[in-house]
Amino acid sequence: MAERLQNFVDGNWRASSASQALDVINPASAQVLAEVPLSPATDVNAAVERAERAFLSWRRTPVVDRVQPLFKLRALLEQHRDELSLSITNECGKTLAESKAEMQRAIENVETACAMPILIQGANCEDIASGIDEHMIRQPLGVVAAIVPFNFPGMIPFWFLPYAVAAGDCFLLKPSERVPITSQMVFHLVREAGFPAGVIQLVHGGREAVNAILDHPGIRAVSFVGSTATAKYIYSRAAASGKRAQCQGGAKNPVVVMPDADLEMTTRILADSAFGCAGQRCLAASVAITVGDARSGLTERMAAAAKGRKVGYGAQAGVEMGPVISAESKTRIEGLIAKGEHDGARVLVDGRGPKISGYEDGYFILPTVLDDVAPDSEAARTEIFGPVLSLMHAQTIEEAIALVNGRSYGNMACIFTTDGANARRFRYEVNAGNVGVNVGVAAPMSTFPFSGWGESFFGDLHAQAHHAVEFFTQTKVVVERWPKEWSRKF
Ligand code: NAD
Repeated sequence: MAERLQNFVDGNWRASSASQALDVINPASAQVLAEVPLSPATDVNAAVERAERAFLSWRRTPVVDRVQPLFKLRALLEQHRDELSLSITNECGKTLAESKAEMQRAIENVETACAMPILIQGANCEDIASGIDEHMIRQPLGVVAAIVPFNFPGMIPFWFLPYAVAAGDCFLLKPSERVPITSQMVFHLVREAGFPAGVIQLVHGGREAVNAILDHPGIRAVSFVGSTATAKYIYSRAAASGKRAQCQGGAKNPVVVMPDADLEMTTRILADSAFGCAGQRCLAASVAITVGDARSGLTERMAAAAKGRKVGYGAQAGVEMGPVISAESKTRIEGLIAKGEHDGARVLVDGRGPKISGYEDGYFILPTVLDDVAPDSEAARTEIFGPVLSLMHAQTIEEAIALVNGRSYGNMACIFTTDGANARRFRYEVNAGNVGVNVGVAAPMSTFPFSGWGESFFGDLHAQAHHAVEFFTQTKVVVERWPKEWSRKF
């Protein structure tokens, strides 16, 4: 029987009191890896109660001491990077190289948060009025929680966790119930790193655990990453109970290819963006808009790149793309390809229904290219979240930018060009928070905020870097006068 995962509460592993559980499945083989409990509200409440107690002394711990276990955690993540990466590949499906790159991003976020003694500094102004000084101090909020998606189980918790605890908050993680094993492994390292009991906790679960987090009066802020529908729900329910919320949603990312672009390089980068992680990245290119003469050159090259990609179990040498997350996801994606065809697109490369030798039960779809996709069709507007690239064609950069700006999502937009004026115009005019110029996955490094716009983000302060510091702290302004001192001067 598969191992049942446990929650990590008050510095110890605890069995969840859940009566229900789900199988965690390797999407390449359909093999059951573990069983994840769907923790009830009582489990969340117990964790919050411990966190509230831990906060009393954690917030009084000097910031230079709070970052010490983070330095240790950074070293442990590095030391265990290979096991963590294999776990990501096994529960999420991506290739081992992609999993290792993901862990690198997690580590970098810990490194950035270790600068908290500088990042948390406030501001002051002496003599803002005669004999009056004013100071702005940053103080932690209390207990905060993060609810995360399936597609980056190793990285996304680290968009929040290190900043929250370095800022002096106590942090609760609710991982995706589809990929909870990597979080379980990370929490063994959290324990070894030596954080005081209750400062960082893990509660597995689904909707009930999420709702308990959203409604709990003791949780001050919620960070969320997932689909747009869930992001909207979390944002409004968190706000209804007076919490801060930062909710990153889904995406549909366009890439414009100008006629002056280097088409060999563009095809290679674009194919990696569209088909890397089997298209299950919120920064995956999902629509390519060619301008003018770029059309034929890019279309032919992209078809060849899609056909040439080696698909299989992500831990096997030479595999360039793994499966999608679940049987339901595979069915949904294949349905959207069929819908695209029905709406008039040409299926240039059809990846539906493959059999991968040795992994016949896996949830595989091969890279797929749809050509002549109509801008208002479902294939052009819906987040497919699979290895499907839709091609559209425009005559001018104005037309291409209008297509980019005509969609509701705003996670990323990219341009491929060798003309600086085109690049600047694109950067200036597009409605997207993460912009790439000759880059296919414009993922901000940990020292910059992950800046989704539109239907891709609900809130104001994003994940990572200075935004995370602001999100996890509240400002206090002190206006100060010392009459004796002031009168002494005159
Ligand atoms: P999801 O919305 O299904 O689930 C995300 C989390 O929300 C999970 O922890 C899940 O347990 C919880 N959840 C799901 N439905 C819920 C409900 N009805 N009530 C309460 N909780 C609920 O997302 P997913 O399928 O795990 O992840 C893929 C999505 O995440 C894609 O849309 C992708 O674009 C998006 N994503 C966005 C970013 C970004 O930075 N904008 C990054 C990664 C992924």
